[in-house]
Amino acid sequence: MMNFRISSPEQYEVTYRRSVEDPEGFWDQIAKEYHWFEPWHKTLEWEFYTPSVKWFIGGKTNITYNCLDRHLKKRGNKLALIWEPNDPKEKFVRLTYRELYERVNQYANVLKRNGIKKGDRVAIYMPMIPELAIAVLACARIGAVHSVVFAGFSAVSLADRIKDAGAVAVLTSDGLNRGAKQIPVKRVVDEAIAMGCDTVKRVIVTERLGWAVNMVEGRDVWLHEELQHVGKECPPEPMDSEDMLFILYTSGSTGKPKGVVHTVGGYMVYAGYTFLNAFQYEESDVFWCTADVGWITGHTYLIYGPLLNGATTLMFEGVPTYPDAGRFWQVIDKYGVNIFYTAPTAIRSLMAAGLDHVLSYSLDSLRVLGSVGEPINEEAWNWYHIHVGKERCPVIDTWWQTETGGIMISALAGISKLKPAHAGQPLPGIQPVLLDADGREIEGNDVEGYLCIKHPWPSMLRTTFGDHERCRQTYFSAFKGYYFTGDGARRDENGLYRIIGRVDDVINVSGHRFGTAEIENAINLCKKVVESAVVGYPHEIKGQGIYAFVVTAEPVTNPDLVEAEIIESVVAAIGKIARPDKIQFVSGLPKTRSGKIMRRILRKVAEGDISNLGDTTTLLDPAVVDEIIEGAKTVK
Ligand code: ATP
Ligand code: MG
Repeated sequence: MMNFRISSPEQYEVTYRRSVEDPEGFWDQIAKEYHWFEPWHKTLEWEFYTPSVKWFIGGKTNITYNCLDRHLKKRGNKLALIWEPNDPKEKFVRLTYRELYERVNQYANVLKRNGIKKGDRVAIYMPMIPELAIAVLACARIGAVHSVVFAGFSAVSLADRIKDAGAVAVLTSDGLNRGAKQIPVKRVVDEAIAMGCDTVKRVIVTERLGWAVNMVEGRDVWLHEELQHVGKECPPEPMDSEDMLFILYTSGSTGKPKGVVHTVGGYMVYAGYTFLNAFQYEESDVFWCTADVGWITGHTYLIYGPLLNGATTLMFEGVPTYPDAGRFWQVIDKYGVNIFYTAPTAIRSLMAAGLDHVLSYSLDSLRVLGSVGEPINEEAWNWYHIHVGKERCPVIDTWWQTETGGIMISALAGISKLKPAHAGQPLPGIQPVLLDADGREIEGNDVEGYLCIKHPWPSMLRTTFGDHERCRQTYFSAFKGYYFTGDGARRDENGLYRIIGRVDDVINVSGHRFGTAEIENAINLCKKVVESAVVGYPHEIKGQGIYAFVVTAEPVTNPDLVEAEIIESVVAAIGKIARPDKIQFVSGLPKTRSGKIMRRILRKVAEGDISNLGDTTTLLDPAVVDEIIEGAKTVK
């Protein structure tokens, strides 16, 4: 295990102070815990205007050497990856560090055999099976840049991403299982490539369902056939610290997805550091992150972070509600999961399914719980803490972004004080600030503003692929000299951060500014409510009015009564000024594939402007939008 664990609140204070006073010395020492083929000659060069950020300059390493080779001696027989299939009756897979090492080396040789080389971009469109993790690592091993695209996206979305990245190959499977459904993945890839993806020369297909698929002569090959022809060893490509490791497109909650670029050295250092410290991982722990590898969370905390620390990581092919809503809890008991990391959207849907599902499992092995992706409302936090963690497991609410590469603001499990709906304190090395509209830093506590970061950290994005200007525009132009997160936050009287939502979503009612998360939190406290989304709309008197879309557990038979309860809940939690002006009951909310609410669509509905809903290709279920548009017509 690496020697950079923080084990007490006092140590956090000291470490944090050091990381701010001497960031370079601080990260230098941490980076030295990793294996480098050649040391760096300069720790950091940066400016936030162009922007340009470089860490561990001149250093040479390979992240897979640190994830695999380095562990072989001590942990060769330790489990690296446990894979649980979609269908609980199917056999699971367990790979030791040595086995994973061999599989990655072989896959890397398959890539080489197919002409893929360092610097090439490779799109990965695969189900949550071991070969997905292996494919990611195989790319990193030879220095090819992986671009994982969630295998639920449409052919159009996949084609957009392949083209944007100029991918030379697509790694995929014949089909996939997701709950009760089976999806012909290879067919989607064929359709996507037919949309003008001329850069793609190879498609490597993993057999998952045993389906017959269309194989294009000279372009498509089966993985199992290719594996017959390759050797067991593939030396890790020496990578420059600032060489590209991967491109990952953001989830598209706010607009067209951006191809966020991460580089080798800094990402590696930060992924390993934050995994160990945020979760307080211990050597014998089984760690389970439920995120799909198609999201940044799956990159950093399903694959890289755990493997860098020699941990056992669990990968789950299925969904939380199949065959029933007890699936997560059953898997936790089956493998004795110690640390569990999931998203508020999953927690809320399991809450709605009733307590019986969770109460029939022991969950004794759990020690730490984590949440990521959205603000976790108080009610969900409490449910998670009481019914899953049995009030003995700390729940850490981890705030970060695709662009940040790793967790930025979070409690350290079991060390920091917890406060529901608050992410908490910055991790060492992270210097968050709150700015006012004029770009001035707001000092002190009990304040609120635009959440920015004033000093670089190793795993921050370097650019948006193929369009550096977009990177500058999006993140570095609103506030000169700062990285702007796009989120608003509050610092409470004790200096703990609370994310109040995206700043585009802030609602200004008669001069009072509200974050969407704050109002939704209050609405969700209402017993009958499962989840909600609020947006602002033009209001003659108040400037903006509050429009709430509410999902209830049971169909609403007496809307006036439920509305009154909701309003009462908001008035009690925040005050009269925040009471929703309009409430619409809906059966579901428009969400991205990663489970985030697309408020920009709801805003259009609330404004009554549905002519142009913007990019909706990353929506999970477009049908729900039609229902909402229909329903909006009768809202008073
Ligand atoms: P896009 O940038 O394309 O709109 P996105 O921002 O949803 O997509 P991600 O990078 O996956 O894509 O998500 C990061 C955002 O998720 C953060 O900026 C924040 O708004 C939200 N978020 C993540 N974790 C938390 C958390 N613990 N608490 C509050 N918000 C969170
Ligand atoms: Mg974003």
